[in-house]
Amino acid sequence: MLEMKIPERLKILPCCLKCRQVGVGYKKDGDLRKCMQCNGYVYMYKDFKITKDPEGSKGLMILGTVGIFFFALMQGESVEFTVWAVFLAGLTFLFVHNHEKNKIKGVES
Ligand SMILES: [Zn+2]
Repeated sequence: MLEMKIPERLKILPCCLKCRQVGVGYKKDGDLRKCMQCNGYVYMYKDFKITKDPEGSKGLMILGTVGIFFFALMQGESVEFTVWAVFLAGLTFLFVHNHEKNKIKGVES
């Protein structure tokens, strides 16, 4: 089984996708975190319960993340940003995948 190897220190680093920075300052907004610089949402790896993934989504996730990983590397992004971009892309794939599944279920019933 393929697992994403994410360095421990990256798991607790806040990341802002909007200004493409890892380790940005953020302020708490209820349960959410907002970037001090652009007011965008800030993500943290440890916030995601990725181990609870439903069955078959992993293939999709791996496929998408590998593509983005190489793309980001070619763009000359920092390793930290690349890891984050890959991770969030994976989440997006998961979300879209699950969303589609729900739609199909809705049509069937
Ligand atoms: Zn920001």
